[in-house]
Amino acid sequence: MLNKYSYYHKLGIEQITLSYIEKCEAQINPQFKAIDDIAEFNQLKVLHAMQENKLSDIHFNWNTGYGYDDIGRDAVENVYKTVFGAEDAIVRPIIVSGTHALTLMLTGILRPKQRMLSITGRPYDTLEKVIGLSKSESMSLLDIGVIYDEVPLNLEGSFDVTAIKEAMSKPTDVIYIQRSAGYAWRRGLKISEIAEVIKLVKKIAPNCIVMVDNCYGEFLDYQEPTEVGADLIAGSLIKNPGGGLALSGGYIVGKSQLIEQVAGRMTSPGIGKECGLTFGQTRPILQGLFMAPKVVSGALKGAILCAKVYETLGYKVNPSPEASRSDIIQAIEFGTPDKVISFCRGIQSASPIDSFVTPEPWAMPGYTSDVIMAAGAFVQGSSIELSADAPIRPPYIAYFQGGLTYEHSKFGVIKSLQTLQNSNLITI
Ligand SMILES: *Cc1c(COP(=O)(O)O)cnc(C)c1O
Repeated sequence: MLNKYSYYHKLGIEQITLSYIEKCEAQINPQFKAIDDIAEFNQLKVLHAMQENKLSDIHFNWNTGYGYDDIGRDAVENVYKTVFGAEDAIVRPIIVSGTHALTLMLTGILRPKQRMLSITGRPYDTLEKVIGLSKSESMSLLDIGVIYDEVPLNLEGSFDVTAIKEAMSKPTDVIYIQRSAGYAWRRGLKISEIAEVIKLVKKIAPNCIVMVDNCYGEFLDYQEPTEVGADLIAGSLIKNPGGGLALSGGYIVGKSQLIEQVAGRMTSPGIGKECGLTFGQTRPILQGLFMAPKVVSGALKGAILCAKVYETLGYKVNPSPEASRSDIIQAIEFGTPDKVISFCRGIQSASPIDSFVTPEPWAMPGYTSDVIMAAGAFVQGSSIELSADAPIRPPYIAYFQGGLTYEHSKFGVIKSLQTLQNSNLITI
């Protein structure tokens, strides 16, 4: 009979690499209990939301044409509303990405002369063109007369309260928070920190609207930002909440009156949420949401293992293996382009799909430097599945995330290290 080591061997892994990883794994193992507790809590939260909304087989049917009275679509949105403790929700497969969901959230609310203040520094790369911080042919927030300012995080990677207070001495309509690190060298922000800063900004300006980019943050904690005072949050269904099963889509949840405005931007003013097809996606969206707490916990354990392995090898990693986490992203600073490229190629070769493909850096739409992406996923571009990406710019940081199971995420870490060794870039 074949044992697991024979399969590791068949998959190109040497015993010495596996032993190295499993030694690191033993050291982080005690952290897994806390992660399992959060997964259990969120599994019950999702189950409760599905029962509460009387989910039934009929909700997996779908409409055609305008899509009026689509009860499946309504059921999906009601379940999301309950899970996120929000008043209303938009959850649609026609939202093409996280960036699209965030764009709808911002453009649905912000009007000429209103001011948006990002209190987590420069937002995620793809939002630069949405805001107007880098040029494009399309109409940006700056083009329509929105005023944009930002306050960077402090040196500890948390909210800079003094600077936020000072920035808010000018009228502020929207406070923008990015929960996850994205392509930045920082940790994700904890829900407790987000709760505290929301209290502060609401005290200064009770009517300002707090928006959160929740991408990669879902189910990392016992609460979501909407449960601690955020007015609107948005994210992608091909990240955490889609559980690897949603084929595409995005969500925006929050206050009813704000969701109505965003819905008017998504379809048309006066039509809002009443139209729009689900193309048979209600079942995978809901089944994915059901799986998501467990999937996210596996990805999180894989990220911690990745941190432990590369930190032990002497690389700077962020977050550190011991840090408490608020997203599933692991950043590793490799310092040279050949190492980041080799790391990403290792992840690609660990994939169930397109494992034989060699990824190359390319100019991805929406990003300002060339990016290499390793993504051998069942759903194209899905980054809740095992994936890695790296913008090709100093100090050459690779971002590792995902894995539909912990075992696969672990295999990704093993294969990346084996690939770096095979290219003589790392010796253990
Ligand atoms: C992924 C991500 C986005 C954008 O989502 P896409 O689906 O790639 O458009 C925005 N913000 C953060 C923090 C992200 O991680």
